[in-house]
Amino acid sequence: MKILRAVEPMREAVRMWRRQGKTVGFVPTMGALHEGHLSLIHRARVENDRVVVSVFVNPTQFGPGEDLTRYPRPFRRDAALCRRAGVEALFAPRSFYPLDYQTWVTVETLSQPLCGRFRPGHFRGVATVVLKLFNVVQPDRAYFGQKDYQQWRVIERLVRDLDVPVTVVGCPTVRDKAGLALSSRNAYLSAEERTAAPLLARSLRDAGQVLKSGQGVAAARRAARAVLGRIGNARVQYLDVVDPFTLADPRPDGPWLVAAAVYVGRTRLIDNRWVKP
Ligand code: AMP
Repeated sequence: MKILRAVEPMREAVRMWRRQGKTVGFVPTMGALHEGHLSLIHRARVENDRVVVSVFVNPTQFGPGEDLTRYPRPFRRDAALCRRAGVEALFAPRSFYPLDYQTWVTVETLSQPLCGRFRPGHFRGVATVVLKLFNVVQPDRAYFGQKDYQQWRVIERLVRDLDVPVTVVGCPTVRDKAGLALSSRNAYLSAEERTAAPLLARSLRDAGQVLKSGQGVAAARRAARAVLGRIGNARVQYLDVVDPFTLADPRPDGPWLVAAAVYVGRTRLIDNRWVKP
């Protein structure tokens, strides 16, 4: 496996594969890899001749006061996991934004609800870095987790609107045995918080059942909040029921996406659940 620390060598590796007629799958990450990331890598491995993973903690998607500086960066472990998973190239640019960087990509409407309400500029940072990464790696397919549901939808739209020649593949959320969605940020949780955190997934499941039974969005949100109330030091940032495609208000007869962001202690966790009528 090659580790590439700058744009030009990464481009050169892909140019060589292209000359050989190989297809390229790409998994963008911020590192601190876990089974969720590995599920994307395995899928890319199956569907492409060559797999590129990027590890880059993208500063432009963090707001002031967020966890940019304390975000975990276990690079040697990440590289070992990628090597073991059969990745051909690990792209980990030392710097990715030239001085006086000025160009931004905004997916307007889809970036506004849910996390967008509380993390202004977040999806602008995500869309911009992902387009930059696509321009360097030029993959045939790129893999995104549905755990970050809004991010996946934003990238799909970016690719469609700007005619980016890549197929975006959304992959199911990987969870631990208790149902907690795997996340690099779970490492911040204390033992006690970790025990309570699966209640987030549980709350979304309960809301889903209420929606399926036809009791409506308000009742679903009440059901979810009742479960979240059982997490000792939780603060709900949002708990919304939206249309899974537009992320706007859902149709009364569904389908629905139940999505939440909850602070458990100092750690912000997100999760979502697609509910069919
Ligand atoms: P991150 O390193 O958190 O930026 O995530 C990189 C990619 O991995 C994104 O497409 C995430 O949606 C995806 N991902 C993170 N956690 C999970 C998970 N538990 N299940 C599936 N995909 C995930």
